[in-house]
Amino acid sequence: MRRGRGGAILAAMRRPPASQSAAFVGLAVLVLGGPLAAVSAPNPVRAAATAALEPPTRPVLAAAVPEPSHEVTSERLGGTDRYGTSVAISARTVPEGGVPVVYLASGAGFADALAAGPAAARSGGALLLTRPDRLPANVATELVRLAPGRVVVAGGPAAVSEAVVDEVRAALGPDVPIERAAGPDRYGTAAALVDGAFEATTPLLFLASGAGFPDALAAGAVAAAIGAPVLLTRPDRLPPETVRAIRRLRPERVVIAGGPAAVSPAVATAVAALGPTVERVGGADRFGTATALAKRFLPDASTVLVASGLGFADALAAVPLAGRLGAPILLTWPDSVSWPASVPHPTRDELRRRAPTSILVLGGPAAVSEFVRYELVGWADGRLSVPPPEPDYPAFDSRYHNPTELLNAVIVAAIWRPDLVDIFSIGTSYQGRDIWAAKVSDNVTVDEPEPEVLVDALHHAREHLTVEQALYLLNVLVGDYESDPAVRRLVDEREVFIVFALNPDGWAFDLGGSPYRGWRKNRQPNAGTSAVGTDPNRNYDYRWGCCGGSSGNPSAWNYRGPAPWSAPETRAMRDFVESRVVEGRQQIRTHVSLHTNGELILYPYGYTKVDVPADMDPVDQRTYVAMARAMARTNGYRPMQSSDLYITDGDQIDWMYARHRIFSFTFELYPTEQVSSHADHEPPDEVIVRETTRNRAALLYLIDLADCPYRAIGASDRCG
Ligand SMILES: [Zn+2]
Repeated sequence: MRRGRGGAILAAMRRPPASQSAAFVGLAVLVLGGPLAAVSAPNPVRAAATAALEPPTRPVLAAAVPEPSHEVTSERLGGTDRYGTSVAISARTVPEGGVPVVYLASGAGFADALAAGPAAARSGGALLLTRPDRLPANVATELVRLAPGRVVVAGGPAAVSEAVVDEVRAALGPDVPIERAAGPDRYGTAAALVDGAFEATTPLLFLASGAGFPDALAAGAVAAAIGAPVLLTRPDRLPPETVRAIRRLRPERVVIAGGPAAVSPAVATAVAALGPTVERVGGADRFGTATALAKRFLPDASTVLVASGLGFADALAAVPLAGRLGAPILLTWPDSVSWPASVPHPTRDELRRRAPTSILVLGGPAAVSEFVRYELVGWADGRLSVPPPEPDYPAFDSRYHNPTELLNAVIVAAIWRPDLVDIFSIGTSYQGRDIWAAKVSDNVTVDEPEPEVLVDALHHAREHLTVEQALYLLNVLVGDYESDPAVRRLVDEREVFIVFALNPDGWAFDLGGSPYRGWRKNRQPNAGTSAVGTDPNRNYDYRWGCCGGSSGNPSAWNYRGPAPWSAPETRAMRDFVESRVVEGRQQIRTHVSLHTNGELILYPYGYTKVDVPADMDPVDQRTYVAMARAMARTNGYRPMQSSDLYITDGDQIDWMYARHRIFSFTFELYPTEQVSSHADHEPPDEVIVRETTRNRAALLYLIDLADCPYRAIGASDRCG
């Protein structure tokens, strides 16, 4: 994948004029797989300035996107509901059909099914779920396919009704024996299930809490794989039915799954009093316990099953499959669109250690999203990297993506849809960090003759929400591609470029505060002063410094720099935009620069209050107004000419329009302009989903109009 993509990038980048060497070099190094940090080496001027004024800090994003260490296949076993999922898992467990026994358990609770799993595995059978009051049709069909020699119903009539038993009999015929394994409660039913499947002595027995599903599920998988039974206990005392079963089985060793909060020390003492040695295998939480069980009992398994750690429904039937494959079950969070920690750290670290070759995800996308599925693959094959300890968001804002989590999220999208997502760097920052970008389109490795769109974020370091907005757009274009025909059409018929953080040095510096520094500019030193930083959005060369819309004072928040293009970050943006001129024609037709805050949609010019100055086509001006109003109707922002907010000169959108005739907008995101404070730029992470989703329609509109922006005023004839 890397190689094919790289070749295409090279081909695409052959087109720009030779002056665009910075972007070309960055991409060429990516193609060769070398460290991108090396790109900064050939610039002696910058190296000297760096040495004299500020030693570069260690770049956060120094490494190139890595090659996978090995191939990891992933497969989803899921149906439309838990019953369908149990059928899918059964079909994967026993594809050949024909089993000695099928265990049938209620899907309404977890306890009976969890105890039945190792029993089914021990007997070479399968486990299916049923509704308490009726047998789902797809489950009946699977029962017939499995053609079991007998059926064991887990639990009494309250768990699985006699009506269901009658339906099983009707499906399989009168010759297949149906028996119940039931006790007075879940503990008794677990003991009865074990009684029916395991002989009188067993070397090893697992004991898990019957009060929650995660530990018993993980214990069930390893127990099934090594042929051991699982019994359930109350957290604080050992139930009498469990005592009776332990006495009958006379195990040499009992493994308690989970920490002392899940199964109390008093229970461990009670078990030891019955004779066996007691070993506790647990972690700090459910994720840690599942990982600890996997490492302790199946350390070398090359296949892992992964289930949601939040709901039991989709993994219940998987224990016999785990037994057949010798595979552990690990747990994850279900989704991750705005939650970087979607794969919990114990699970992540175990995938990195184990490097499995096969991952089976249990349940449909509502249980474990596709994004998480490919994140699991990325951890397993080494393409994702662990975030460095700093700089990072504080715990209360942990749903913001830090720089490494952002790159991981983009890589996950590329792992998921390598046909749609291409990652590259448009160049490096002053301190040598890569400025990462993604291209999203069908046939993404080919530079097709399709209208192009640019979305960029984080010119200004503290404007954290803009990064989430850019990532949200990537998630929409990739995640909704199959399900939303409108999104699919745009991805197929446009080429969308997303630059996620133009100012990575300022971002890292801002995050180094407590919690934030409120930093805006880049981190470039200024000769003759200790004041650091240039405002990248005043450093573009169109009408640079012309009109009082920027400052010549290096300590000012809107310092324009000593000359146009003095900031490496704006040069990288310039070179990228100019590289999209193909055969004399700029391919990018629409653009948005994401900023905070104010809930505004701004259009050029910023340098003058005149609506239609000599350097603007009056029809373009009408088009701008129409597009801004159309987008504002979808997100509730206020549309206005940039200079109506305040005069700016040397900013990006003036340059994009004046030099390239790109219909270029600034979005000032949530919140509205309030009392001026840094907090305006740093809203709590609770608003990320709401405030990024809010711009879905506006961004899709902008992408749509790239074929002919004049459609906004009904003048598509202007596009010829
Ligand atoms: Zn800004």
